[in-house]
Amino acid sequence: MSQLLSCRQLQAQYGAVKVLHGLDFGVAEGGITTILGANGAGKTTTLRAVCGMVRTSGEIELGGSRIDGRSTEHIVRRGVAHVPDGRGTFVNLTVEENLRMGAYTRRDKAQVEQDYARIYGYFPRLAERRRQQAGTLSGGEQQMLAVSRALMLRPRLMLLDEPSFGLAPRIVQEMFEIFGEINRRDGVSMLLVEQNAALALRLADTAYLLETGRVVISGPAEDIRNDEAVRRSYLGY
Ligand code: ATP
Repeated sequence: MSQLLSCRQLQAQYGAVKVLHGLDFGVAEGGITTILGANGAGKTTTLRAVCGMVRTSGEIELGGSRIDGRSTEHIVRRGVAHVPDGRGTFVNLTVEENLRMGAYTRRDKAQVEQDYARIYGYFPRLAERRRQQAGTLSGGEQQMLAVSRALMLRPRLMLLDEPSFGLAPRIVQEMFEIFGEINRRDGVSMLLVEQNAALALRLADTAYLLETGRVVISGPAEDIRNDEAVRRSYLGY
């Protein structure tokens, strides 16, 4: 599989404080990569670095061309959709209005209409609530909406920041099954940041473990799942 996203020696900093110290990682075309790590390891910052929301150095290549140093808007137009932690829906807008915002870069209006149907197919609960204000949705529904809004962009790469956070296990399970489906059916590649390592390692093909801004273990997700140190520290068995 060729690489869709390749980061080489990626560094990122907030003011004078460096938090990523030269990461090498990638996402295969049509693949799912997960980045695992404890609180403060730099997972969220890694996603923010890929979409140009934090100062970086090093190389970020998407589909063969460099995107490091480009504006977030440029990166979004290249097909990268970010689902931030804390969800980030427009709470005063309805479900449908949120989805429309997700499609703002698109000119193919007829296909946008079809995409509403496709997304409501994945998340029927959102269809029932299409006129409801996003702020009044449950946590799980808001997360579904955040993912759906990102999908309205027709992304090549979706950046998912802790989609399981704060949700009931059953909802999380459902959500991860849908991620798998979106990946297989629509060919959307994913870079998934998760604290729930067991879940992430089942979905992903490739995994990286971060500790204080450095990759300490990487490889096929299946190998990482069987890694003794990962099992003890992150999988709890
Ligand atoms: P968590 O799992 O707790 O969300 P994380 O692995 O996603 O953690 P980051 O949010 O990327 O970690 O944070 C990495 C480091 O950067 C932390 O030490 C954090 O305090 C610091 N940091 C994050 N955002 C900022 C900011 N806006 N300004 C300064 N420092 C920041």
